[in-house]
Amino acid sequence: MLAKFLQSVHVPHHKNTKYSVPVRFLDVKTVTIPMSMHIGAPAKPCVKPGDHVKIGTLIGEAGGFVSAPVHASISGTVKRIEDMLMSNGGSCQAVVIESDGLNEFDENLKAPEVTDFDSFIQAVRDSGAVGLGGAGFPTSVKLKVDPNRVDYILINGAECEPYITSDTHSMVHHPERILAGLKALRKFYPKAQIYVGIENNKPEAIEVMKTYTHELERCEVKPLPSSYPQGGEKVLIYNTTGRVVPEGKLPIDAGCIVLNATTISFIGKYLMTGQPLTTKSITVDGSAIAEPKNVIAFIGTSVKDLLEFAGGFKEEPKKVLYGGPMMGIAMPDLDKPIMKSTNAILAFNEKDAVLPEPTACIHCGRCVDACPLNLMPTEMEHACEKKDFEALKKLKVNLCMECGSCSFVCPAKRNLVESHKLAKQLLREAGIR
Ligand code: SF4
Ligand code: SF4
Repeated sequence: MLAKFLQSVHVPHHKNTKYSVPVRFLDVKTVTIPMSMHIGAPAKPCVKPGDHVKIGTLIGEAGGFVSAPVHASISGTVKRIEDMLMSNGGSCQAVVIESDGLNEFDENLKAPEVTDFDSFIQAVRDSGAVGLGGAGFPTSVKLKVDPNRVDYILINGAECEPYITSDTHSMVHHPERILAGLKALRKFYPKAQIYVGIENNKPEAIEVMKTYTHELERCEVKPLPSSYPQGGEKVLIYNTTGRVVPEGKLPIDAGCIVLNATTISFIGKYLMTGQPLTTKSITVDGSAIAEPKNVIAFIGTSVKDLLEFAGGFKEEPKKVLYGGPMMGIAMPDLDKPIMKSTNAILAFNEKDAVLPEPTACIHCGRCVDACPLNLMPTEMEHACEKKDFEALKKLKVNLCMECGSCSFVCPAKRNLVESHKLAKQLLREAGIR
């Protein structure tokens, strides 16, 4: 399926916040913490209105094997448990906590006792870790594989999406946490070669990670070309190991585990402190933002409060995104909360947000050249318009990772990626895999 070298595109980096050391936003009045901030079964609330909680208190138990527990991010009183409409159109329960202003940690938190593989996996599960680069897949599920099957562990520090710098700050400012996480991986996956993949437009992160990991056996920092989507899971696997994830399979089927840099940083911190996932480092940027910066916010903080803390807007935003401009999701309103997988909030003015009207395809083939998975974006778009499920299946639209490269290069400004998302949804609804 894949060519010798994967296609990529050069997108403007806009890393305006690369020197912005994250600042903490502590003064929140309430947080709304969704029970579904991960792929899989939502967590089940285990608190009730009136309960007093502290930072790190368990408020949602994992709802199944593919799930993750959820913890209080502030200290205070549970006000209510409500249904919440998510940005992806789905709904879930959310626990609303009113702050007591003390920001106290739960006194029962302590570093986990990790003595063997099983206790390591249990610790990762208890921590509430999910893919923090945006994917939200429960990390303990990803790690719970026979260590003999793991030839490579790839730490994804590519951060190829424009604007976002939160992973870079994890690597530059908390390398000791990443090292603690890597040491655990080294111990429990003894056969695996570890690569830390970082785009070469982040020289400071490369240097810091090299310094911190040089004594770790079979661990190498790999500078990668700055091209998009270098951080896509399949792209990173191919570009660092030369392996191809078989169609419809997982990275482990190619002997690989991929973890985002901030995820392994958090796991390292949890192993040292026992403090579960309650905060997130977020890049706030975009042409409508007055003062782009990185902010460490409690999970459940409203986007509106976060944006006010970050300095607000300098002009009216026409589009606000959870995540980067290539793969982010547009927010219907600013009352939505910061979630575990939120790594950026970007707000754009009219000039940057309003897309030009698409014109007819001129059959230039640029979208085909740009696709890292060698898919056929134009034909997929046609098949989607005609609801031709057989053709969509043949064209392997389900493999599309929604990276947006095809839309980005299209001179006719066709919104190809939205068409691919719709096609995948249509196939799902028709029960076709
Ligand atoms: S969005 Fe899908 S079809 Fe378009 S370039 Fe990315 S993987 Fe290929
Ligand atoms: S890049 Fe745009 S204009 Fe060119 S073939 Fe693809 S859809 Fe058509």
